[in-house]
Amino acid sequence: MKSVKHWINGALTDGGGRTAEIFNPATGEVSGHVALASAADVDAAVAAAAAAFPAWRDASLVKRAQVLFRFRELMDAHRDELAALISAEHGKVHADALGEVARGLEVVEFACGIPHLLKGGFSEGVSSRVDSYSMRQPLGVVAGITPFNFPAMVPMWMFPVAIACGNAFVLKPSERDPSASLLMARLWQEAGLPDGVFSVVQGDKVAVDRLLEHPDVAAVSFVGSTPIARYVYETGAAHGKRVQALGGAKNHMLVLPDADLDLVADAAVSAGFGSAGERCMAISVVLAVDPVGDELVRKIVERVERLVVGPGDDPRSEMGPLVTQAHRDKVASYLDLGVEEGAKLVVDGRETAVLGGRGSGFWLGPTVLDHVPVGSRTHTEEIFGPVLSVVRVSSYEEGLRVINEGVYGNGTAIFTNDGGAARRFQHEVEVGMVGINVPIPVPMAFYSFGGWKSSLFGDTHVHGSEGVHFYTRGKVVTSRWLDPSHGGVNLGFPTNG
Ligand code: NAD
Repeated sequence: MKSVKHWINGALTDGGGRTAEIFNPATGEVSGHVALASAADVDAAVAAAAAAFPAWRDASLVKRAQVLFRFRELMDAHRDELAALISAEHGKVHADALGEVARGLEVVEFACGIPHLLKGGFSEGVSSRVDSYSMRQPLGVVAGITPFNFPAMVPMWMFPVAIACGNAFVLKPSERDPSASLLMARLWQEAGLPDGVFSVVQGDKVAVDRLLEHPDVAAVSFVGSTPIARYVYETGAAHGKRVQALGGAKNHMLVLPDADLDLVADAAVSAGFGSAGERCMAISVVLAVDPVGDELVRKIVERVERLVVGPGDDPRSEMGPLVTQAHRDKVASYLDLGVEEGAKLVVDGRETAVLGGRGSGFWLGPTVLDHVPVGSRTHTEEIFGPVLSVVRVSSYEEGLRVINEGVYGNGTAIFTNDGGAARRFQHEVEVGMVGINVPIPVPMAFYSFGGWKSSLFGDTHVHGSEGVHFYTRGKVVTSRWLDPSHGGVNLGFPTNG
């Protein structure tokens, strides 16, 4: 039985006593326990971070970049170990976990360029012998609160940039798959990051609430479900913090009749069932514009029936289990609900064979619901599992309206060979991340990631230049070095001259 602790000031610590169970989702067995931080544990982590901040802020840009380069090399060398930890607690297959590590590492690589990213502007001679220049400085202690579905990548959306900018970072990972955070903490230490600059407090709402209220936490980055994102945004802002809170999603893929339907079916199945649909950029709704619906569903079903479902550590598995029994049951409840609401259950994931048998694992196979009515709960609610809904629409305009009427605005995609239609879509759709013949448009690290509407609270997306902006504040200096002709007292409002 493993025991997952906090990482505070460069060392593991047990904390105050409460714990939660960690499961192996493939077997349903308890594989360990994770500490749940008390307010005092959070205070200890924030105090260590606050103490470490001034020296880290004052470390040269080159020195900070060198630590990031070393961290990048160590993470690269430990990819497999990290992926195995993720797979054992989350359930996703090993190859998928490796993919998440690779996408997270891209943000570390981006942050290695921090000397360039933090360059300010300089204007010589804004007035007679007066120069102006701008700089961006770190905030102090910043916190990250992350979801279960990407226990390495989502924290890596945040901390490489925050730390490169000179902040001290406190991570509160998901209590469902907490182990990856501790390996990353150890590798930071090995890379030469001073103790206290990166800490981990394991925990639940108690830890989150203390971070949101703590006077020494300057900013909070959150990724998770929409109700909690809204709560984190409102509570953090009420306590005077800068907050970016990324929420849930319901991503639509609009298929125009001229699209290559084999490409579409491959994309819908890959993006619908990768990671068992537990991705905020999963495609959960296919909007098939008449008349392609029947043929497309046939092609999707052909592919779904060939998917291999099994434990994440079996190399034959393409899709693993869901994260907990409760989540599995919630997702499965949409199958009956969908039928009650008028949809046709074309593939029933409750009947899918599982490599090695189902045992007590949290299994639900890939499911396809066709003719899902627009506006039904199955269509509009985030299911966050391996359930692909097909909605039939009569035109591009109707499909666009369905997407834009949704409450979420995280990701979307259009599949077409018509460049004009694609261009119109990218202009008209009210969603933050758009794919054109690309099913999961997760932006690269040097762009920023974030949705619109109920998928994001706050105005700053994560990583890329918006991440640098979020973790720094601007300062403008106006300087004049006196010479003998400085002109004496003048009470008029200073203007250029
Ligand atoms: P969640 O909202 O349940 O949990 C996220 C974090 O909040 C965890 O660290 C958790 O401990 C904490 N938390 C949970 N309940 C809380 C409460 N009542 N008060 C304070 N903190 C609380 O989300 P999850 O189930 O871990 O992750 C899945 C969700 O995350 C999905 O909705 C998914 O769409 C979303 N997600 C969004 C993005 C994005 O980029 N927009 C990315 C990944 C996941």
